[in-house]
Amino acid sequence: MTGTPTHCPYCALQCGMTLTDAGPGAPLAVVPRDDVPANRGGLCQKGWTSAEALTVPDRLTAPLAREAKGAPLRPCTWDEALDRIAEAALRLRGAHGPDAVAVFGGGGLTNEKAYQLGKFARVALRTSQIDYNGRFCMSSAAAAGNRAFGMDRGLPGPVTDLARADAVMLVGGNPAETMPPFMRHLADVRERGGALVVVDPRRTATARQADLHLRPVPGTDLALANGLLHIALAEGLVDEPYVAARTSGFEAVRTVANAYWPERVERITGVPVPHLREAVRLLARGERSYVLTARGAEQHARGTDMVGAFINLALALGLPGRPGSGYGCLTGQGNGQGGREHGQKADQLPGYRSISDPRAREHVARVWGVDPGSLPGPGRSAYELLTALGTDGGPKALLLFGSNPVVSAPRAAAVEERLAALDLLVVADFVPSETALLADVVLPTAQWAEESGTMTNLEGRVLRRRRAVAPPDGVRTDLAVLADLAGRLGAPGKWSDDPAEVFEELRAASAGGLADYAGITYERIEAEGGVFWPCPSEDHPGTPRPFLDGFATPDGRARFVPAEHGGPAEDVDGGYPVYLTTGRVLAQYQSGAQTRRVRALAEAEPGPFVELHPDLAERLGIADGADVRVTSRRGAATARARVTDAVRDDTAFMPFHWPGEGRANSLTNPALDPVSRMPEFKVCAVRLEPAAAE
Ligand code: SF4
Repeated sequence: MTGTPTHCPYCALQCGMTLTDAGPGAPLAVVPRDDVPANRGGLCQKGWTSAEALTVPDRLTAPLAREAKGAPLRPCTWDEALDRIAEAALRLRGAHGPDAVAVFGGGGLTNEKAYQLGKFARVALRTSQIDYNGRFCMSSAAAAGNRAFGMDRGLPGPVTDLARADAVMLVGGNPAETMPPFMRHLADVRERGGALVVVDPRRTATARQADLHLRPVPGTDLALANGLLHIALAEGLVDEPYVAARTSGFEAVRTVANAYWPERVERITGVPVPHLREAVRLLARGERSYVLTARGAEQHARGTDMVGAFINLALALGLPGRPGSGYGCLTGQGNGQGGREHGQKADQLPGYRSISDPRAREHVARVWGVDPGSLPGPGRSAYELLTALGTDGGPKALLLFGSNPVVSAPRAAAVEERLAALDLLVVADFVPSETALLADVVLPTAQWAEESGTMTNLEGRVLRRRRAVAPPDGVRTDLAVLADLAGRLGAPGKWSDDPAEVFEELRAASAGGLADYAGITYERIEAEGGVFWPCPSEDHPGTPRPFLDGFATPDGRARFVPAEHGGPAEDVDGGYPVYLTTGRVLAQYQSGAQTRRVRALAEAEPGPFVELHPDLAERLGIADGADVRVTSRRGAATARARVTDAVRDDTAFMPFHWPGEGRANSLTNPALDPVSRMPEFKVCAVRLEPAAAE
């Protein structure tokens, strides 16, 4: 096959594809690769149509700026745009200090961009105010993984290991829609006699393929996990020798689990006792089983504890740290894993290092050629940052790359208000996203197939993305924009727009950290089809299964952490009697900025909808296809009713891909997890009524 071998622009599976020239005026042709284990020749609808996103009619090809708030965005030169940003950043820093300018990144940025963005914030702007949209996506799994294992890394091994599992329990994930080729791996489990258990309040496309589907009330996952552990204890299914040899802290968890007897858990979760028992027996029937979590377990105000409770279950059954077995997180965004490893998180430096660790600061400062004392400390997390914008003591300017928080942030109307109140909002994007349309300066940037870089997929495998076409005239790469701006700001150190050079620096900066990329080179990725981190030297084979010889904790033992069920931050009541849960659909991706512009995807899923149960619809007088007004304590949205018994009769579901009247995130609750600072996207209280009644 001639053409350019690369990977899909969207989700964390990072399916392999080859892009070939399809002739003058035609989009690049997409051909799936069968040499990439993640997708083995499969792609979903988003992947098949991904090349069309390169040539959408409203592609940005010139910088835009408005002369004053309220004035229209007009084309300007790159010099005008970048001078204006640098002048404002220096002026605001002089007047209010370095934290007056903030940076916001994205989990879809390549490792090189995420790294350069973090360095740009700390060295060129000297601001502590940087975070990214991955905080909304997987941070609770990251926090729980770090707490239990001393390290957070997606799946515990290659995706192909799944095939030999005796059972897989998937909690709060719907890969049949979010990453369909992943279903091939789950199908392998079942074809070999293994069982698939899905935990989800909705009967999703994934749940329909399960041997057992548990449908808990939204927000009760912690009680469910504790209840499953109770049954494991009662039925003698706990792997006591493993617990004694490889873990610590089990007694406290055992004490908590004792209080979650099956009938009590059925009352809290709505899951029948026989289903609880069957789930545990399936999971414990062999030595090789997996507990996997995704956004449904993570996006809660107690998300870290919820994920932690499922990790407790996996540890009690002796699963983590054994080949072909363990706990894992299905990361979401394309570089959801790598994006959190290289410094665009408020509290981290490259290599997954804590920004508060003096030795980490010294190491990274040496690579960057600056004084460790000049590096700022930790900043605000994503939602806290967005809602501090323009307030007294909050940032006055924001530079935003690869994110669209006007659609994707919780309580989005409040975020929109804060963005509009800034002295300067700069958005780098390739289309006029809803957030870009609010900006004072818009920078047109290259995307995916127009530039090179690396991505780290859900397995922890570092992959090469390759440039297949030149970007349109007038467009620059994010790396070039950051390097240019660093120069205009008089930043010390070296700044490159060449991904290969930036990756070399990233290798040095990550060396010795948890996410150690020191031994990974572009050449090795090329030759080996990807390299798993940690990989501390060029003669190291990489680490596909990191916990076989011990966990990354100081004593090598995994840690149990007890947690009691407490329910969602906002429960239903007489005024708001229905749970709302949000999620994604097959034909759209994240805030929809890319996929809503691709014709076939827009036709497949043209607009917002709300799923509600037939009994609830009848009680409320709502017909299938009618417009429904959904109201929470934070706002309202209108969407088309889909009446279906796939949802519980106490729960409505809305996907979050659309802006405007149908924006699900007008409703969501920004209550934050105390550890991960992740908002509670997965449950809030709403009322529904026919739209005409408003
Ligand atoms: Fe792209 Fe994910 Fe679909 Fe694969 S599953 S084609 S990576 S969106």
